[in-house]
Amino acid sequence: MNEILNLPINDMARTEFDCSCGKHHNFSIHDVAIGSSAIEKLPEIAAPFKEGQILMVYDNNTYAAAGKKAHQLMADAGFNVKELLFDRGDDVLVPDESVVGRILQELSGPTPEDTRLIVGVGSGSINDSCKYVSFHCHLPYIIVGTAPSMDGYVSDGAPLMAAGRKISYPAHLAYGVIGDTDIMKDAPQELIAAGFGDVVGKITAIADWDLAVKVKGDYRCDTCVELVNRALEKCFAKADLLPKRDEEAIKYLIEALTLTGVAMALIKISRPASGAEHMLSHFWEMDYIARGLNPIHHGLQVGVATPVIARFFEELADILPEGTGALCPSHEEIEKLLASGGAPVTPKDIGLSRELFRASLIGGYKVRPRYSVMEFAAEHGRLETIADKITAEYYD
Ligand SMILES: [Zn+2]
Ligand SMILES: [Zn+2]
Repeated sequence: MNEILNLPINDMARTEFDCSCGKHHNFSIHDVAIGSSAIEKLPEIAAPFKEGQILMVYDNNTYAAAGKKAHQLMADAGFNVKELLFDRGDDVLVPDESVVGRILQELSGPTPEDTRLIVGVGSGSINDSCKYVSFHCHLPYIIVGTAPSMDGYVSDGAPLMAAGRKISYPAHLAYGVIGDTDIMKDAPQELIAAGFGDVVGKITAIADWDLAVKVKGDYRCDTCVELVNRALEKCFAKADLLPKRDEEAIKYLIEALTLTGVAMALIKISRPASGAEHMLSHFWEMDYIARGLNPIHHGLQVGVATPVIARFFEELADILPEGTGALCPSHEEIEKLLASGGAPVTPKDIGLSRELFRASLIGGYKVRPRYSVMEFAAEHGRLETIADKITAEYYD
């Protein structure tokens, strides 16, 4: 029934099964390849599209990290490849109208062959832009990940900038996902820490989901909860080796980021990956963008937000439904975990002002219509008191 739990991650592609939650789940990604030298599998995964043209997309950083190698592999295997390289020098590539537009232009360029496949080589920005364009052009895409920085490799949404605002657009799942540990272990330390922060956030996401099930009667899938929990356990056990770029620790981090994506894809909601900690992160990010600043990495914010949300669970322990509080470790334990993985721990560590922090605790639950422990606090008339108490703890 829930046999996906016993499959190695590389065998999960194209699985479907009747689940104990009463639903039929289907994980439609065609190929997942995670591990040492996984990039070598690219030509094999792309083989069904060989008769057409393949568009490969990178930026200058991801080209150096893996794009050059990926292109060589495809050229050697006889693919007809067209390249699009975004050279932003030392600036980060922002997935906005110009990037999306450029990819589209290359698809409808003067070359006579039809593009059959997009291969993105990168992490957040390249992945989201290629995912979005391929979805709208009804093309499959393969992502060759270059950093274990977020859980968007297996996700059907594409957060992009549009007219200066960040919008989460619907898109589709990748055809293939490649996570080569030899490449990803050399990613910038900040991106590894960001991915780890995003994984730490699943702790409160799962507790928040449980609260919504018990208070609001939301749907729950125990198979997905189990899938995520097992992945977290493996990743957290090796967390202290992440700053040393230990290959096994990086592999478990990639697996955790991928498996939360699998859980989301199975049930088609983001509950296993995103709870109140993501609402705080979103609130902070919107403030940065509104002030014309580049927000810091998503996962670094999510990591910092996680012990804050754990404080909510602690403060509300007397009125939480039975069993919910037990799903969330103490905020001290979470802080220790973040520090061991090399991620920032407190709002001050990431430069958040006291005003913005307090405002996010009061208004954060409204950023999306999803029940959370912050809304639970508001319903019980305790939001302001808790917000003041936590703010004082961090800033006084
Ligand atoms: Zn996230
Ligand atoms: Zn299920």
